[in-house]
Amino acid sequence: MKIIFLGTGEASDKYRRNTSVLLENDTGHHLLDCGFSSAHAYLPYDGKRKLKTIWISHFHGDHFFGIPQLIVHYYMNRREDPITICSGTDPQEKIIKAIDLAYPGLPEKLPFKVEFKTIAPGESISFNDLEWQSAPVSHAESACGLRVKSGDFSLYYSGDGKPTLEAVKLIKKCNLIIHEAYSMSPTKLSHSSIEECLLWAEELHMQNLALVHMNGQTREVLTANKNDLTSPKGTHLILPEDGDTMEF
Ligand SMILES: [Zn+2]
Repeated sequence: MKIIFLGTGEASDKYRRNTSVLLENDTGHHLLDCGFSSAHAYLPYDGKRKLKTIWISHFHGDHFFGIPQLIVHYYMNRREDPITICSGTDPQEKIIKAIDLAYPGLPEKLPFKVEFKTIAPGESISFNDLEWQSAPVSHAESACGLRVKSGDFSLYYSGDGKPTLEAVKLIKKCNLIIHEAYSMSPTKLSHSSIEECLLWAEELHMQNLALVHMNGQTREVLTANKNDLTSPKGTHLILPEDGDTMEF
């Protein structure tokens, strides 16, 4: 499995695209979140494999407003293969509304099928060659973390929010954790911080931890210190930039 960090930024990052992760295996592409700038980040990869799945962690614009752009791209290019859009709650109404607002009438004209799937917390379902599980996380908007499994590799993608006990159960089973770390220290905001993530890495014996979705101030502090964070014992700590890849 190849992991491509299409974007590593928060909603209004000045220098980075919105956080979005592309999973590439032999049979296709699967996109984890698709915000304002994610469609443009994905397009250079389009066609190398078929985009089969888009997972939406929650319905904030920096996590799903790129979907209308991708859909109109596939409309213009006369796509025929179906695409699955999935989330922890039924995504259909919000996605159709967003596409229709961006391009009125487009949802009725598509030459390919958009299949909507709910991956409810607690369920484990298989489709598009992968195994999918979700768990609620604590965020301002209803949001879910996701575990994706392929063979003996699995990853956890937090989206936005602090892990709940259910999410911790998913995290414990994964080889790679991609987690948002909005601030340096814990705040009352419904986001995680770098300090918390480093503690969880040690407590939960994370093998690989990639931190994304930091705010501008946190990025500045890290840059000033030459990204000098101490890796928790036993954890490979990664601070990915847009375009970075990993292979498992
Ligand atoms: Zn959010």
